[in-house]
Amino acid sequence: MKRSLIIVSNRLPFVINLNENGEPVRKNSAGGLVTALAPSVVKFYGFWVGWAGNELTEDMTIPESDDPTAIAHKIKPSQIVPIFFSKETYNLYYNGFCNGSLWPLMHSLPTIASFKSEQWNSYVSVNEKFANSTYETVKKFENLTDKNNLVWIHDYHLMVMPMILRNLLDDANITCKIAFFLHIPFPSWDIFRLNPWANEILLGLLGCDLIAFHTNTYAVNFIDCCYHILGARVDRREMLIEYGNKSLVVRALPIGIPYEWFEKNARIAPKPFNFREQVIFGVDRLDYTKGIIQRVLGYERFLDKYPECREKVVFFQVAVPSRTDVEDYKNLKDELEREIGRVSGRFATAEWTPIKYIYNNISQCDLAGYYRDARIALITPVRDGMNLVAKEYVACQIADPGVLIISPFTGAGETMNEALLVNPLEHDMIADAIKTAYDMKYYERKLRMNALQTRERLFNLDTWLESFFEAIDLVDTVKKMQS
Ligand code: UDP
Repeated sequence: MKRSLIIVSNRLPFVINLNENGEPVRKNSAGGLVTALAPSVVKFYGFWVGWAGNELTEDMTIPESDDPTAIAHKIKPSQIVPIFFSKETYNLYYNGFCNGSLWPLMHSLPTIASFKSEQWNSYVSVNEKFANSTYETVKKFENLTDKNNLVWIHDYHLMVMPMILRNLLDDANITCKIAFFLHIPFPSWDIFRLNPWANEILLGLLGCDLIAFHTNTYAVNFIDCCYHILGARVDRREMLIEYGNKSLVVRALPIGIPYEWFEKNARIAPKPFNFREQVIFGVDRLDYTKGIIQRVLGYERFLDKYPECREKVVFFQVAVPSRTDVEDYKNLKDELEREIGRVSGRFATAEWTPIKYIYNNISQCDLAGYYRDARIALITPVRDGMNLVAKEYVACQIADPGVLIISPFTGAGETMNEALLVNPLEHDMIADAIKTAYDMKYYERKLRMNALQTRERLFNLDTWLESFFEAIDLVDTVKKMQS
């Protein structure tokens, strides 16, 4: 089917840097969002609206890509709509409201969240900017009354934008669907209402025709919020919300991974570990939601409780630098490194280091080798929208399969029932789960891994994309059934 498509996300599918001559050049971004969406933008000759980084200024033009291996290589400069804001706005909007208020609250960690009107105002003005630029871009569509016109907005940075855009489109009599995908959790209404601007955010999202979440739990939480906070009419069976003259279809569409890509890379990736001990592997952005410190303490408990396992395992943790200009994240790094040093010092011998720690980013090609050779993946976020790492680990178990240990407080943990589920907040439970995984016999590992692999292979990234387009195409039918 032919569609006119605009993707809107906080960041463009690449970052712009300046070369030695001061000219802008594209730097590849490899996130899941880019992998998932760039092919659709190419296929439909669509547009991408987003921020290109601090180095691009309004007098510069977007360059072509000079890297044919980049996922967004085929997206032409004419398809890119850059958004500009000052460093001060970036600080208030992104570091402030997005990551200081929304991020912790949406992850059900309200005591870490802080709220400031100045940051909220900046969030709204950035959302207005995105809405205006997107509106101007919609006007470039071939047919402004085509029901297949679509703007697809991504993530928590842009939650008030849909209604601003909806009003602009309605005033101009332009037909265009607006869809939204939230990549992080949506908390229960009792947590969400702590946000001083909860009403405004919900009303913003009501500008969409379709809103989708990773899990049914998040979708139901959102419906509850609209019911309790806004007093909207909700149909829980059809998952439909009505408020004034607006109606919104809600869906759970869990994202998948490019399964075959990881499987293929696991076959060719170099061997990462050159020690004989079994590897317990963790890899996360350095974020307090990922439960990395609790994981170290759980591992310490494992070494305490099962001394026979000492010198037979190594806990290998990769922490990817994240939001490094935010104070909470700097403190987290210091605390994590202190704990790793303490536990290492407690148990290390002349021949054995119990924890290996990397504070850096590893390419996904190499990561496939780390996953493949890790006997246990220890994934223990206190809250995580989905957690792609768990899925990627599963795809890379191409030979003697390892064991996945996962927190139930992740989107992935809601469906990966054949993994070992562990509450990340209790050290003894983590210790016992590691021991169970360590002792698990081949046939049980194989049985569990086969089931996990079958699901992830089937519900991969392509399936997610197809299910999204199917849901948007059914929106009118669902709304009609109701009226
Ligand atoms: N990743 C990577 N290099 C690293 C660590 C992680 O490329 O050193 C990738 C990983 O393959 C995964 C993503 O980053 O696709 C992390 O996604 P996840 O959902 O697990 O966590 P998020 O960082 O989005 O909260």
